[in-house]
Amino acid sequence: MRYLYGGEKEDAMRFILVASEIAKKSTCLRAKCSSLIVKDEDIIGSGVNSPPKNLESQRRCLESKDALDRKVTDKTCCVHAEQRAIMDALRNNPDELENSRLYFIRLDKDNKISFAGKPYCTICSKMALDVGIKEFVLYHKDGVAVYNTKAYNLLSYKYFFPSQFRRRE
Ligand SMILES: [Zn+2]
Ligand SMILES: [Zn+2]
Repeated sequence: MRYLYGGEKEDAMRFILVASEIAKKSTCLRAKCSSLIVKDEDIIGSGVNSPPKNLESQRRCLESKDALDRKVTDKTCCVHAEQRAIMDALRNNPDELENSRLYFIRLDKDNKISFAGKPYCTICSKMALDVGIKEFVLYHKDGVAVYNTKAYNLLSYKYFFPSQFRRRE
């Protein structure tokens, strides 16, 4: 992972701001998120999180995750913004995905961009890697960070919540 500076950071911030506008369309009741996939300065895919097919009958945002079995590995309520952006790019610009860059942001309750924590979504990290996305960009407290997607996937599997005891390797 490396932080972006100067012109590279300015370019990234433009897309992060576009993503923050798009995120307002999310209907998730837990957190409004969005994702953009960019290739050579062009947006080739975008998405927000919301229930599958935007069906109210499938909405789980306010349900407890604790009741779910450990076999239910994706406990998040909605289709992830990154999944939506990847599906959008696969539909509309499948040939542009190789070596593209994915941006992900989450809004806080006031619709301001919130700082991202460490990566942990192994579904999105695997999908991004599988379709050829080269880099993942997150807006951290310490700056705008770009991760190689292979490293991002490995990091996601190493995630642990800071208050937990570290698992023995
Ligand atoms: Zn939701
Ligand atoms: Zn995800």
